[in-house]
Amino acid sequence: MRASFCDQSWGQWVAEAALSVKDKVFNLIPPVLLAVVVLFWGLGPARLTANPTTLLVAVCVTMGIIQALEFVHERHAGWRWNGRELFTDVFYVVLGFNAIDFLSTHLAEDPLKALKTALHIGTPWTLQLPFVVQVALIVFLIEFGQYWMHRLMHNNPLFWLTHAPHHHITQLNALKGAVGNPIELFLISLSVVALFDFSLQALFCAANVGTLVSSFAHANVRSDPPPFYAFFFTTIRNHSLHHSVPYEDTRCNYANSLILIDRMFGTFRDGEADTVGQDDRKRLTIPEQFVFPFVPLITAIQARRNVSAPPGPR
Ligand SMILES: [Zn+2]
Ligand SMILES: [Zn+2]
Repeated sequence: MRASFCDQSWGQWVAEAALSVKDKVFNLIPPVLLAVVVLFWGLGPARLTANPTTLLVAVCVTMGIIQALEFVHERHAGWRWNGRELFTDVFYVVLGFNAIDFLSTHLAEDPLKALKTALHIGTPWTLQLPFVVQVALIVFLIEFGQYWMHRLMHNNPLFWLTHAPHHHITQLNALKGAVGNPIELFLISLSVVALFDFSLQALFCAANVGTLVSSFAHANVRSDPPPFYAFFFTTIRNHSLHHSVPYEDTRCNYANSLILIDRMFGTFRDGEADTVGQDDRKRLTIPEQFVFPFVPLITAIQARRNVSAPPGPR
C-alpha cells in the first residue's frame, strides 16, 4: 500500500512538473514567434520579403500554427474547435482576404494614395527610420485607428449593430478575430498608413505581426505571455474579458493587438472571462451575422406593414 501511495505521489509530481514546464514553454511562444516574424521580414532575402505572395503564405502559416497549438495545450474545453466553427472561421478568413481586402483597397487605400500624390505629401523621413521602428510605427498607426473605431462601436448604438455579431461568438479560437459582420470588418480595416512612406518589408512585417498577436488574443491556447509582452500586446487573458457576456463588461481592452493603447487612454482592465457571448449567448449563423445590423429596420418595416394592412377575414 505504502509503495503504491509513493508511486502515485511520484507519478503525480512528475505529471505536475511536466505540466508546469509545458506551461512555461507555451507562455514564451508568442514573444518567440514575434521575434521570428520580425527577423524574417527584416533579414530575409528580398526576393521573398518583397513578394506579396510571401505575405499571404506567412499570414496563413501564422494562423495555422496558432490554431494547431489549440490542440496541443487547450485553455478551455468549452472552446474546443469543431466542424461548425471551422467552417465559419475559414469562411471569414477567406472573405477577409478577398471581398474585405478588395473594398478597403479600392474605397480607402487607393483614394488616400491618390490624395497623397495630388497634395504632394511625402514622408521620406519614415523611410529613413530603422526597420523595427518603421514596423512599430505602422502597427501603432493601424492600432490607433482600430482602437478608436472599436471604442466608437461600443459607445454608439448604430455602430454597435455592426460590431455585435463579433461579440455573439460563444467561444474563442485563433481565427475568430476574422469573424464579424462585413460592414464592421470594412470599418475596422480603415487606416491612414497609406499617407506615409514605408518600406514594403516593414508594411508586410506589420501585417504579419498584427495577425500573429490578434490570433493569439483570440486563441484557445493555454499561454500567458510574460509581462514584457503582455504590457504592450493584447493577450487572450485580457481580450477574453472584452468578450464577457454582460455588455458593460465589454467596454474595456479595445485594442486588437496593441493593449498599450488601452493603457494610454484608461480603458485597460486586467482579468479573464471563460464564458463569452452576448445577451442570451445565442450563437449566430453566417446569414444571421450578415443581416444583424438591419434587423431593427426590418422589424420596424414589418411592424408598420402589419399596422397599415387591412384586417383579414375572421
Ligand atoms: Zn468589441
Ligand atoms: Zn475579439
